[in-house]
Amino acid sequence: MSQYDYDFFVIGAGSGGVRASRIAATLGAKVGICEEDRVGGTCVIRGCVPKKLMVYAAEFEEHFRDAASYGWTVGEPSFDWATLIANKDKEIDRLNGIYKQLLSTAGVELFEQRGELLDAHTIQVGDRRITAENILIAVGGWPSLPEIPGKDLAIRSNEAFHLAELPRRIAVYGGGYIAVEFAGIFHGMGAETTLVYRGDKLLRGFDDDVRDCLTAALDERGIRLKLETRIAALEKSGDAIRTRFDDGSDEEFDQVMFATGRAPKIDGLGLDKVGVELAGNAIKVDEYSRTSVDNIFAVGDVTNRIALTPVALAEGQAVAHTLFGEKPVSPDHKFVPSAVFSQPNVATVGYTEEQAKEEFGNIDVYMSSFRTLKQTLTPRTEKMMLKLIVESASQKVIGCHIVGEHAAEILQGTAIAIKMGATKQQFDQVIGIHPTAAEELVTMRTKVR
Ligand code: NDP
Repeated sequence: MSQYDYDFFVIGAGSGGVRASRIAATLGAKVGICEEDRVGGTCVIRGCVPKKLMVYAAEFEEHFRDAASYGWTVGEPSFDWATLIANKDKEIDRLNGIYKQLLSTAGVELFEQRGELLDAHTIQVGDRRITAENILIAVGGWPSLPEIPGKDLAIRSNEAFHLAELPRRIAVYGGGYIAVEFAGIFHGMGAETTLVYRGDKLLRGFDDDVRDCLTAALDERGIRLKLETRIAALEKSGDAIRTRFDDGSDEEFDQVMFATGRAPKIDGLGLDKVGVELAGNAIKVDEYSRTSVDNIFAVGDVTNRIALTPVALAEGQAVAHTLFGEKPVSPDHKFVPSAVFSQPNVATVGYTEEQAKEEFGNIDVYMSSFRTLKQTLTPRTEKMMLKLIVESASQKVIGCHIVGEHAAEILQGTAIAIKMGATKQQFDQVIGIHPTAAEELVTMRTKVR
């Protein structure tokens, strides 16, 4: 009989926490989990899932626009924000229910309350003290806002999912994942959208050709780009928000959304009391997601490794196997594919051209940029781009970057090949599927660099 209430207790029922707790329970552990908000976490409740539903809604705009070129008359389309939000909320409620059901089916005990560490084996959960042999912190991240006068007038992604109405004029601040995704969402739904970013091209850290291609595409689609600009202050101006920029100019918007990054949600967790060390503002962990306290683990955004749901799932699952499986499992963070659901989509895996040059010196770059067949009947001139990075010596494909329709769907399979170490010659041996954009991945013969 264990001296603790639980073998394993998880703080935070998002992607990483739910996965870890379910696997641990199926491996025979007695497991509890607590959550101060809704079960499902950022991804299900206020992130990936509702965001993707809103991206789908926004994409109809271009379908309606292209329809005439294919002979359709669709009339004057109109969009009702309230219908979308209500339907989206219904789906999120359903998923929240499924997550709870999954926990209970696995035999995980759920406490819908906040958890705080009291010592290495004790957690205050609401008004109860719970003890556990092993603890997992999976509390995720939270939007972080720069210290700007009037910043509280801005919404964050959290609020963007629940606005009472679609703003007529919106400024989105930032140039990362969330900023470009939401700029596309609001623009697609008909809001006058301005994307304000301090850099000269969007998506810092991505391959340079991807950045150029997406920046040009958003501009061409009619999102107003205000680059190399910072917001200096926000002020209330009747029902609008007067936005002052660092170049001295100002403008009014109905909403201003900050998408200026996310930070691990570590406040008030009791980490200092217990001696869990930080690396910057994130929890420091080893390759098994173990913190500086031997029986306490951390996974997902709170560790600031790669802030993506599937990575948190893999990390959570690995912790459960390490503790209750046959041998320790370390999550693999190499060649993690990801996508930005901007319009057009961006998808990427492996090295950017810049990183590859730095790491390997000699590389071969293959690139194809073209108007897709679907666009040829429409007036649109936007280009799709596919790019492969190959290490010259081994001929292994070490990076793939795509900008264009269905980029995320195309890239997943390619990521398998790259993860398996496929060479450019092996890519070339594959017969293409014609006519598709994806066939370019197996037909690029000429090095561009
Ligand atoms: P990102 O780190 O992607 O982008 C933050 C943006 O804010 C950057 O453009 C950054 O500029 C800018 N910024 C940061 N600080 C300031 C400041 N003080 N003043 C002005 N601008 C600032 O963060 P997001 O919030 O967009 O997303 C967080 C993470 O969540 C992502 O990195 C990703 O891992 C994950 N995510 C994944 C999604 C997906 O898989 N599709 C979707 C959404 C989020 P600069 O570039 O100059 O640093």
